[in-house]
Amino acid sequence: MSNDKKIAVITGAGSGIGRASSIQLAEDGYTVVLVDYNTESGEETLRLIKEQGGEGIFVQADVSKSEDVQNYVNEAVQAYGRIDFFFNNAGIVQKFSMFDDIEEAEFDRIMSVNVKGCFLGMKYVLKVMKDQGSGHILNTASTAGIRSEHSAGAYSASKHAVVGLTKSAALEYVKKGIRVNAICPGGVNTALTQSVAASFQQGGYVPEELSNMRMGRPAESNEISGVVSFMASPASSYMTGSIVTVDGGLTL
Ligand code: NAD
Repeated sequence: MSNDKKIAVITGAGSGIGRASSIQLAEDGYTVVLVDYNTESGEETLRLIKEQGGEGIFVQADVSKSEDVQNYVNEAVQAYGRIDFFFNNAGIVQKFSMFDDIEEAEFDRIMSVNVKGCFLGMKYVLKVMKDQGSGHILNTASTAGIRSEHSAGAYSASKHAVVGLTKSAALEYVKKGIRVNAICPGGVNTALTQSVAASFQQGGYVPEELSNMRMGRPAESNEISGVVSFMASPASSYMTGSIVTVDGGLTL
């Protein structure tokens, strides 16, 4: 099927930042390819988009599995012939604990989704964008990717790696018409942070991101998707290798 509209692929599209961004990008005129591990929530995002007259498909995938990543990239190309914008967003949060209590299996789980998942998505989408001679990848890092955050050693390391992957690819592909950027949200009111708050309460520690929001509140997902919308627009055309904080002043 050919399509004159621009094509966006969004991972983690079933919830929080990914869902809000998928809906926003569809409103902006993108045809969307929604990717999530959770079929029910991914299909629900697609339903919400179609209800508003948007277009797209959903592909179930575990972003940490190479064959699943190749499959969602192939499905996008088979359906629409190209990928203009890739919002590489799926991620998970660790069970919060002091560094010496982080279990090896937990470390591996975080690295596998947040780092390998980000890497694999970039790798296979970059092949498509290289053939096109154009494209834009926006990775979701975190304020935990540019500074330390308490009781989150594995998560913080994984998001520093996302920043590293972003900068490396931005440098390598700048002459090939491909831009690569990252956003660093601070605290956003999503299922992910709700699970974080519960695990902190169990451990008796209230992190700065929850207790000392400089705006007195976390962001809502649509305050992140607004920035994603800007990044996906021609207005961001001179940005590559940028690590964009959207944190209500948290890292000041
Ligand atoms: P969320 O839990 O609301 O949504 C994440 C989505 O990703 C879910 O739909 C989930 O099913 C999907 N997902 C998880 N693992 C997957 C996998 N292996 N394969 C495919 N899909 C998978 O979380 P969110 O808050 O919207 O987080 C989105 C991104 O933003 C993550 O990368 C997260 O680290 C980052 N982030 C969130 C915050 C925050 O405060 N919420 C802050 C900074 C960064």
